[in-house]
Amino acid sequence: MKCSRCDGRAVAYLPYSKMNLCKKHFLLNFEKRFLRTVRDYKLVEKGGKIAVGVSGGKDSIALLHLMKMLNKKMPFELFAITVDEGIRDYRNILVDVAQEECKKLGVRQVVLSFEKDLGISMDEIMKTKRVEEACSYCGVMRRNLLNKAAREEKADKIAIGHNLDDVGQTVFMNFMRNEPLRLARFGVAGGIVEDEDFVQRIKPLLRSPEKESAIYCILKGIPIQNRGCPYAKGALRSHVRGMLNEAEQKYPGTKYKILNSFLEFKKMIGEDAAKRALTLEKCVKCGEPSSSNECMCCKMLGELGVGR
Ligand code: SF4
Repeated sequence: MKCSRCDGRAVAYLPYSKMNLCKKHFLLNFEKRFLRTVRDYKLVEKGGKIAVGVSGGKDSIALLHLMKMLNKKMPFELFAITVDEGIRDYRNILVDVAQEECKKLGVRQVVLSFEKDLGISMDEIMKTKRVEEACSYCGVMRRNLLNKAAREEKADKIAIGHNLDDVGQTVFMNFMRNEPLRLARFGVAGGIVEDEDFVQRIKPLLRSPEKESAIYCILKGIPIQNRGCPYAKGALRSHVRGMLNEAEQKYPGTKYKILNSFLEFKKMIGEDAAKRALTLEKCVKCGEPSSSNECMCCKMLGELGVGR
């Protein structure tokens, strides 16, 4: 099959745009989309300090490479934060990948772990919890550590590898859980909550399908691990992922339509509505921004019998 842009051999098919692309044009397309997202939403400013959340998975590794590419064109301080949740035969392997890639790119890396920094690993937590509960604990605690590390490093923003698939899943999950306020706060740049202790989270990959991060890494010769988290199977996200993948296969472009509808909906409700959706206090235990006087992370740790 020929590339839709040149006479080269196509290596990837993009069903939503009916395009076949060769290596050169796929990489260009992927990188341009990232740069356009950064520019359209003013995600990175000259002279700023950006932390990249690097889990070691394909999205975060692709993001690290793209941020490094951007950094060569625009002066800002770049460093990486890796959170090791303590999931044996999974995260330890990805943490090694993250360390290797940071070293290769010359990006300083801050590594935190649930066990060392919170007092309990995910494997320990899962001894007493149902698999359906894993991601709630893991997500809350990871966000807490990421924000704390970014704030202590005086970062302006945290870039995370949230992709097009994640957006669709998050939108659906918030509807399914009847959490409209969380949906109102969700966006390309989380930062509708203005609090000096809350480091804005930006999502420069939100227009990029998950599959394309993997293709990008493979074509660039970046090692990726296909290992899945052993606790993912019980998650609502896994179910929604399957549902959306099926819809995308039958009706190519569905994921982009969800993203665009969501962004239109955000404009319609206005930023004020999203801001009103949450007022922040400081957690009495850890000092992190929280919607009540004790943050969810400290509540969870308390319930697990881990003091802070
Ligand atoms: Fe954590 Fe769930 Fe992701 Fe596993 S799938 S790393 S438990 S959020």
